[in-house]
Amino acid sequence: MRDVEHTPMREHMPPVVVVGAGAAGMMAAISAARRGAQVVLVEPNEKVGRKLYITGKGRCNVTNHCGLEALMAAIPRNGKFLYSALSRFGSQEAMAFFEDLGVKLKVERGNRVFPVSDKAADIIDALFFELRRLGVELRRDRVTGLQVEDHRVVGVTTRQQPQGIPASWVIVATGGASYPRTGSTGDGYQLAQQVGHQVVMPRGSLVPLESPDPCCGQMQGLALRNVVMRVKNKKGKVVYQEMGELLFTHFGLSGPLVLSASAHMNFERDHYTVHIDLKPALDEGKLDTRLVRDLTERANQNMGNALGGLLPQSMIPVVVRRAGISLDTKAHDLRKEQRRSLLETMKNFTVDISGPRPVEEAIVTAGGVKVGEVDPKTMASKKVEGLSFAGEVLNVDAYTGGFNLQIAWATGWVAGEAAAEQQEKKDGAAV
Ligand SMILES: Cc1cc2nc3c(=O)[nH]c(=O)nc-3n(C[C@H](O)[C@H](O)[C@H](O)COP(=O)(O)OP(=O)(O)OC[C@H]3O[C@@H](n4cnc5c(N)ncnc54)[C@H](O)[C@@H]3O)c2cc1C
Repeated sequence: MRDVEHTPMREHMPPVVVVGAGAAGMMAAISAARRGAQVVLVEPNEKVGRKLYITGKGRCNVTNHCGLEALMAAIPRNGKFLYSALSRFGSQEAMAFFEDLGVKLKVERGNRVFPVSDKAADIIDALFFELRRLGVELRRDRVTGLQVEDHRVVGVTTRQQPQGIPASWVIVATGGASYPRTGSTGDGYQLAQQVGHQVVMPRGSLVPLESPDPCCGQMQGLALRNVVMRVKNKKGKVVYQEMGELLFTHFGLSGPLVLSASAHMNFERDHYTVHIDLKPALDEGKLDTRLVRDLTERANQNMGNALGGLLPQSMIPVVVRRAGISLDTKAHDLRKEQRRSLLETMKNFTVDISGPRPVEEAIVTAGGVKVGEVDPKTMASKKVEGLSFAGEVLNVDAYTGGFNLQIAWATGWVAGEAAAEQQEKKDGAAV
């Protein structure tokens, strides 16, 4: 591991207080401490980075190995706001940061970056030991409010210190409202509102989808691999198209394709239908030839059984009924137009979507602190002095592929840097 330089600590100053030891908060604390700031990091969980443990199915897709343009293209909402932070601390910088801390990284399909060990714990340990090396004080506590004097944040109140912890600067990095059992319970929204910030209604992104269609419940547990999923809005425009895996559940649809698609949907303004091509490798001509062959081979079977070579068992009755065919029709009795209808259903199996699952079940939270009220260069509040925001608490979110953590690293980094500079200025003024 390379020894990362840092400025000696300004111990006589009130600390920079970072609220939340998730990805953004730990990065902000490290960034500020490396610039000489005395830092207190407040986190109610016993261990830091609890959500990080479950990222990338425990492997932590730490960033995406790509340039600034590709990063921007992966951020559907408020990407422009992040331009400055991502130019300063992009994926190259994030990778160098972790490699300098001794974590070996590898790049996988879709430029997704993971630790070579496939262990999210290695990312957390690297952050934790760096916090320790830099002398960042970790306090196990929950921040309950911001203390403001003359339009300036001067400290935070906590469960254990209701009288407050004085601060030269406060960075709110409390995350969104998704997976609340990891600690991200949306506290940052109230902290922001308390000092006059607007919060865009939090909602889930990268989230399963609900459907009123009873077919989903009938096929509950069925995972379809290598299907093409298109999502069309009410005007019939395709807003998402990809090949991959989806899952039928008791409430609707889930699985990687569905989670990714949800980031392209806005249920406040539109409604959507999912169109699944169950046989994307076969064009209509080839699928018809295949149907004829299978139905000829199983001529004496009824339709409830005859499609076993083409469809998963739990899907056959649903598809056959949807094609307007009775399940006890014998394969040899199937008329040409019925076969056509079967083919069309297989190439375009539709599922109406009524909305997303609750934000608690989402991988990320869309919505949050309004970015127009935050300086994109420093993450500092434009409403009140002495305060900044980092990570998912902001109204930003991205597609899957390591982009959401990249946002946390970048905003944390610049927020920490700016807070340390402010502390230094105050220090200079005090001398
Ligand atoms: C299952 C799952 C898998 C994911 N996989 C990936 C992935 O592989 N790659 C990727 O890029 N993204 C992934 N994400 C998204 C990513 O984890 C988040 O975008 C990221 O963790 C956000 O970082 P954050 O620091 O802003 O918030 P968080 O990581 O949520 O951290 C917020 C912290 O603040 C603390 N806190 C909350 N309230 C208070 C308070 N009042 N006082 C003090 N502390 C408080 C919380 O306890 C928590 O530790 C995944 C998310 C989930 C749920």
